[in-house]
Amino acid sequence: CGIVGYIGNRQASDIIVKGLERLEYRGYDSAGIALMNGQLDIKKGKGKVETLKNKLEADPSEGDTGIGHTRWATHGAPNDINSHPHVSQSGNIALVHNGIIENYNSLKKELKNKGRTFHTDTDTEVIAQLIEEVYEDGEGVSFEKAVRLALKQVVGTYGLAILHIDEPDRIIVARKGSPLLLGIGDGEMFIASDASPIVGHTNKVVYLDDGEMAIVTKEGYEVKTIEDVPLTKKVHELALSL
Ligand code: GLU
Repeated sequence: CGIVGYIGNRQASDIIVKGLERLEYRGYDSAGIALMNGQLDIKKGKGKVETLKNKLEADPSEGDTGIGHTRWATHGAPNDINSHPHVSQSGNIALVHNGIIENYNSLKKELKNKGRTFHTDTDTEVIAQLIEEVYEDGEGVSFEKAVRLALKQVVGTYGLAILHIDEPDRIIVARKGSPLLLGIGDGEMFIASDASPIVGHTNKVVYLDDGEMAIVTKEGYEVKTIEDVPLTKKVHELALSL
């Protein structure tokens, strides 16, 4: 339902939780966050962003890179386990997803045949597992290439923000049928599924179009098609303010 991401020099959890609060108006059943800090630190569960905030206050998670999600369950009951972020089998990949993966059942079967164990009832977990399968299967396959090759096999809609422990300096995002934009800061970048979490941080934004992905670092971003064709995107000025 809602996605927020941050990469920069500040504590990502503060910015992401505030961003998720600004997306609450859309409705949701669960909320969660993954922070990169040498490992992937995940807190998530059924219920309000407020509940997530309390968990983070009781047990703070540091990290200047992270992704957050408010879920509106489509596949799998709204419960703690099915909340996003979802991780791959090794725990090295974490992602949040808006949308529906239509061929998740056949992909899940194939991945199970390859020895992967699934822990949730979501369509989303399949993407994390598939990216890892591609990453581990091919020699010299980068995080970015693994995302691209995995998305070629996916049928359905997605707004995605993905972290990989092996390449902690980046967040990879992708869009098909589910909105996603980047906010350009000074030495920091924001990711969101609508402009509301970005307003107040920066007014410079780039809207991704369907079939596009971006490699987002502190310093900036690179947009390309999921077929690996580089793109120059228009930078828009947000007129809104809070
Ligand atoms: N299909 C995913 C799920 O049920 C994502 C739902 C959403 O867009 O929040 O977990």
